Amino acid sequence: MVYIIKTMININDIWKTTLDELSKLMQVVTFEVWIEKLEPVCIYDNKLVLCAPTVIAKRTIENKHQDTIDEVLVAVHPQLSGTVIITEDQKDEYLNMQESVIEGGGFVINDKPAQSVKNPFTERYTFDTFVKGKSNEMAYEAAKTVAQNLGTKFNPLFIYAGVGLGKTHLLNAIGNFIVKNQPKTKVVYVNSETMINDIINYIRSSSNEDQNAFRDKYRSCDVLMVDDIQFLSGKTSTQEVFFHIFNDLYQQDKQIILTSDKAPNEIPTLDERIRTRFASGLTLDIQIPDLETRVSILHSKALQEKFNLSDDVAFYIAENATTNVREMEGLLKKIIFYSSLTNHIIDTRELAQEALKDSLSDKKGTIDAIDIVETVAKYYKLSAQDLFGQRRTKNIVEPRMIAIYLINELLSMPLAAIGDMFGGRDHSTIIHARNKITDDIREDKRIKIVVADLKNMLLNR
Ligand code: ADP
Ligand code: MG
Repeated sequence: MVYIIKTMININDIWKTTLDELSKLMQVVTFEVWIEKLEPVCIYDNKLVLCAPTVIAKRTIENKHQDTIDEVLVAVHPQLSGTVIITEDQKDEYLNMQESVIEGGGFVINDKPAQSVKNPFTERYTFDTFVKGKSNEMAYEAAKTVAQNLGTKFNPLFIYAGVGLGKTHLLNAIGNFIVKNQPKTKVVYVNSETMINDIINYIRSSSNEDQNAFRDKYRSCDVLMVDDIQFLSGKTSTQEVFFHIFNDLYQQDKQIILTSDKAPNEIPTLDERIRTRFASGLTLDIQIPDLETRVSILHSKALQEKFNLSDDVAFYIAENATTNVREMEGLLKKIIFYSSLTNHIIDTRELAQEALKDSLSDKKGTIDAIDIVETVAKYYKLSAQDLFGQRRTKNIVEPRMIAIYLINELLSMPLAAIGDMFGGRDHSTIIHARNKITDDIREDKRIKIVVADLKNMLLNR
């Protein structure tokens, strides 16, 4: 007797599992702008029908992304043969034609998830999943302290950092913490673009209802978190309204948490009163994590994805994505995706290099230790030989230690090998140099600037 087992397939699950894979493969922006917004409608002719929000989106997806979507969909769900992209007005037509049985077994159920009150915070962005290192521990501790002592410790908390260094992650960590521990607390979490839109609508609208809704949202909260506040720059009337919201909340000891890509005094065209308010609590920055922290972040992300990441590959990625954690995550996702597609785990530098060659090809090659020494030497108007040599005059010792520090931070070269390179110096000398510069960066503004300059030159060649 032959039994045909028909499995239930839910189109939302089909799409979700496909999205998960696509997110690992595509550029974040492409994924967020085009792919994530597609809505699964039904199965027709063995194809998953996806609805695009606009005609332009449909066309762009068909021209640029449909092949990739199809490839991944079929890899994950071999019973399907591809996708059809439609727009809203075609939905009914397709829903009427949909088949409930797919060739090769399986039928489809179409249950859209019930609308429930959603936790607005990204669940995976918690304090536990944030990897601490020298570059971010102050911001991390402050965020945690604030989450535990709303309105009473550091108010406002202002965190600034370049892109992809964890600002949004920390805001969500605070949010998740509050939802879990004090669910009654009313938290408003907005990106500044949303807030600016709200403010513009508030200014324009004359209806009482709109005005009340606005007040209700921004003035009756216990915690206000605004991400990427730098976009207030230049928007005078918006700043004016925000100034009042800020004062109102602040006077009632409501917690305000802001992030920005720049320090308050570096945001251009910002009302002086607002600038002063921003800086009146605790202002902290997040720096680029050092190599060791970058590797830990990768291991932590891999663990979340249940991927067995080898040290070789972790170091390869961390050495090549030196300025932005998000970029580093993108590379890891590619490694995971290729490993799953080819069933051949990528676990050596060579395989990683091969898998990532397209993603990294726009970089002008990776840096090696010689590049670092030459760049440092040039900066100090010396020669590489001066740094490798034995002379210990002051004008040479400082650049030599900085070169050692940078090699240690940017590359994964063993200490002994660095020692060899610098004329057979002992590895304890290398450790000393590294520690000395680490301290100097903290205490000596000049050294801090020199090292930042050099890093910039090396990483943006
Ligand atoms: P930003 O808002 O500063 O541009 P995000 O908070 O969006 O950056 O971070 C980008 C990505 O990098 C996120 O996936 C985030 O989880 C990750 N990330 C950044 N820093 C860390 C860290 N210290 N530990 C773990 N993940 C991090
Ligand atoms: Mg962000």
